[in-house]
Amino acid sequence: MLGTLREEKVFKDPVHKYVHVTSPVIWALINTREFQRLRRIRQLGTSFYTFHGAEHSRFSHSLGVYEVARRIIAQFERNRYPGWPREEGLLALAAALLHDLGHGPFSHSVESVFNVSHEDWTCRIIEGDTEVGRILAAVDPAFPRKVAQVIAKTYPETVVVNLISGQMDADRMDYLLRDAYFTGVNYGAFDLERILRVIRPHGGHIVVKESGMHAVEHYLMSRYQMYWQVYFHPVTRSSEIILRKIFQRAKELFAAGYRFAFLLDPLPKLFRGELAVEDFLRIDEPLMQTVMMRWTEEADPVLADLSARFVYRRLFKYTAVAGPDDPAVERMRERLAKRGLDPDYYTEVDYPTDKFYDMYKPGHPGTKSPILLLTEKGDVVEISEKSLVVSSISAGSQQQGTHYLYYPEEMTEEAV
Ligand code: CA
Repeated sequence: MLGTLREEKVFKDPVHKYVHVTSPVIWALINTREFQRLRRIRQLGTSFYTFHGAEHSRFSHSLGVYEVARRIIAQFERNRYPGWPREEGLLALAAALLHDLGHGPFSHSVESVFNVSHEDWTCRIIEGDTEVGRILAAVDPAFPRKVAQVIAKTYPETVVVNLISGQMDADRMDYLLRDAYFTGVNYGAFDLERILRVIRPHGGHIVVKESGMHAVEHYLMSRYQMYWQVYFHPVTRSSEIILRKIFQRAKELFAAGYRFAFLLDPLPKLFRGELAVEDFLRIDEPLMQTVMMRWTEEADPVLADLSARFVYRRLFKYTAVAGPDDPAVERMRERLAKRGLDPDYYTEVDYPTDKFYDMYKPGHPGTKSPILLLTEKGDVVEISEKSLVVSSISAGSQQQGTHYLYYPEEMTEEAV
């Protein structure tokens, strides 16, 4: 299966124009059940309730990450940069393609209720008895483990890991452009071609030559815009909060022995925390949406009401508060209780954090490898030391952010 396809396969893509596949291994991976499943998982979860165009799937994003990685590697090889291990090309491409394989429906909201992580599922699928696992093992019995290590960031060849997950990796470069395109947020765009020309492998990392600094500033500006305009959008947060509360309620009802009028396999296993890989692969967004549609008619009033609010987009409203201890929060909880609505299910104080979408904060604990500039003299420096734009954005990111109290629309009149 190694080598090249007799005829190159090409996917038409709105962001990269074309995605080129010449490796039979990559082509076979795309055609597996597990990869095709990603067509049924949206890239941006519930963001389509805020930006109606944001219906793009993890399938299209994953092809895009593969394509960006392919172009980066092609550029490294064309220039014969010494820091790039040529023999790792297929490994890097496979990891780029498969890095999101373990995302479930509405990933971030659902993951937090069930304590599962998409990284773990990705590795279990890759190393498991799956179509993907068998194709990888046919390359070399050690290959599935290597792909999983690159995705889990434990692979010893750090430049390969950096290509898939770093501050300027193929994953981010695709999702920023793709999410900007599908939400219609134009200032999220940046010049990918220029970035590709100024990056290179150096000392186990991917660095930027100093003359390319302005292209990176533009990239970080667009990233900043996407966080505040799209990823942290309070309406999207509202839909995520309701979704989380629906599954919290369902999980609690299940544990209490409630008899659901409607429940689809394998949700009982999800509630019990006993999902096997083959069960996990059967849970996708169409299944979840069908279930929530039917739950609008459940006997439990909380589950039925929250499901209807989600399905019919009657999202919670929000108002800025000082924090979780703001007296307005307790007042709202009391008013809800008076109306017979359980405050634990009908309010939430939310603060946008970088838990899922980390912003660029050099020196901040937990920040991934910084963006490094390679100076004319051959020194390596962190970009915010040279760029006023980057140091301002990263300082701004640490201050910005508002606590919002979320509550049902009908409480608006009585709101704070
Ligand atoms: Ca991704």
